[in-house]
Amino acid sequence: MAYEETVNRLRSSFREGKTRPLQFRISQLKALNKFVEENKEQILESLKKDMKKPLFEVELSEFSLLKSEINLALNNLTTWTADEHVSKNLVTALDSAFIRKEPFGVVLIISPWNYPVNLSLIPLVGAIAAGNCAVLKPSEMSQNTEKLLADGLSRYLDKDCFAVVLAGVEGTTRLLENKFDYIFFTGSPNVGRIIMMAAAKHLTPVTLELGGKNPCYVHDECDIKNAARRIAWARYFNAGQICLAPDYVLCSDHIKEKLLSELQSSIHEFYGEDPKQSPDFARIISVQHFKRVSALLACGKIVTGGQTDESEKYIAPTILVDVKESDPVMQEEIFGPILPILTVSGFDEAINFINDREKPLAAYVFSSNSQIVHQFLDRTSSGGFCANDGFMHNIIPSLPFGGVGHSGMGMYRGKFSFDTFSHSRACLLRSDGREKLNEMRYPPYNESRLGFLQYAMETKRKSSCAVM
Ligand code: NAD
Repeated sequence: MAYEETVNRLRSSFREGKTRPLQFRISQLKALNKFVEENKEQILESLKKDMKKPLFEVELSEFSLLKSEINLALNNLTTWTADEHVSKNLVTALDSAFIRKEPFGVVLIISPWNYPVNLSLIPLVGAIAAGNCAVLKPSEMSQNTEKLLADGLSRYLDKDCFAVVLAGVEGTTRLLENKFDYIFFTGSPNVGRIIMMAAAKHLTPVTLELGGKNPCYVHDECDIKNAARRIAWARYFNAGQICLAPDYVLCSDHIKEKLLSELQSSIHEFYGEDPKQSPDFARIISVQHFKRVSALLACGKIVTGGQTDESEKYIAPTILVDVKESDPVMQEEIFGPILPILTVSGFDEAINFINDREKPLAAYVFSSNSQIVHQFLDRTSSGGFCANDGFMHNIIPSLPFGGVGHSGMGMYRGKFSFDTFSHSRACLLRSDGREKLNEMRYPPYNESRLGFLQYAMETKRKSSCAVM
């Protein structure tokens, strides 16, 4: 079987217990940090080659997030790995009951191309912290970064415990034939299904970090200028190639023109007269994706942008209006610098519009009315939520990151990453003596013993003071 040798090498290291000691985990996390610090220039260069990522955006969205995750793990590893003692009942009062966080074994991390560093290495931080061996399979689309990760990580991390596999669709299909103990996948819902089916063959648990169409509702009562600047930043960051970007805007006819004009001003303010010349605006990852995204420009009416240049894989920051729900731009995740604006009659219609569709990875509401914000939160469901901004909830590692329904299952970041890559083992340590206390449960059974055991085992309802 392809890659069997790699998986077996890692598995034997895991069986030897190499990745379990705290000191080993710490050393590998530090080595990962060293890899990033010592190769910063090369990483920046490869991200520039792959999609002309602006340096500022790389610093924020790749390096800072990753650094925080490494530091968080290093700061908390002792606490996270400690056995968690739990409350007991009368039957087990003299025993020791605890949850042991144990590593799964050899885990597979498959990542996409849009944040090829952060989406490969942040899950890896969790896998290392939890004491696993890991195979990392970065995306072949971001080929410069993919190669850099493969060459670099093998020089910094323990080769018997961590491996990077370079593979496209065919290679990944073969890689997935191997038995892994956990699969952490970030990518599209369609490929997520393929991963889950491959995992099912081995009953391997999965985390699926997927995408979708993130709604952004702008309420009549809001600071429209601020809303427009925040939406434009979140939509055109990395040229829209971000799973958390607001995918479309819903607003009433009443504020549409004002919002449009503020969005246009924001685009101008951020990227100048000609965004193609701006050093702060990225390019589309590949010609194939360029063609897919460009085709969406035929939907509705372009009010801003719309210019393209295939030789540079450039698509201008674009706003569309008069888009129909049945248009392709409203059927698939855009994943590019296009923002359709759709009008709704009001708040209820916006909520219904969102709830009629698959659950998104993120949902956004802009309103200065806190009741509207809370109602939006109560009446919709999504992986994450942010009021009055784009994906800013993503910068807090104490919040879980993950989807729900069509946008994925499972979560990670910070302690959630550690938990994702750990099995919570239920443990009870009993004495081999004290037999008198145990006799109660042995046959021949009788009523009074049953009564005592029930009393000693059952969790009682807390008495509630019911004042009618
Ligand atoms: P993708 O699903 O095409 O690819 C992701 C990974 O899967 C890549 O490593 C690729 O090599 C591999 N892959 C592709 N086809 C495969 C197949 N048939 N069998 C096995 N492996 C296969 O996704 P992408 O184009 O790299 O990334 C864009 C998608 O990822 C968008 O939907 C976006 O929303 C989503 N995404 C989600 C998150 C998140 O955190 N939830 C983050 C970034 C991107």
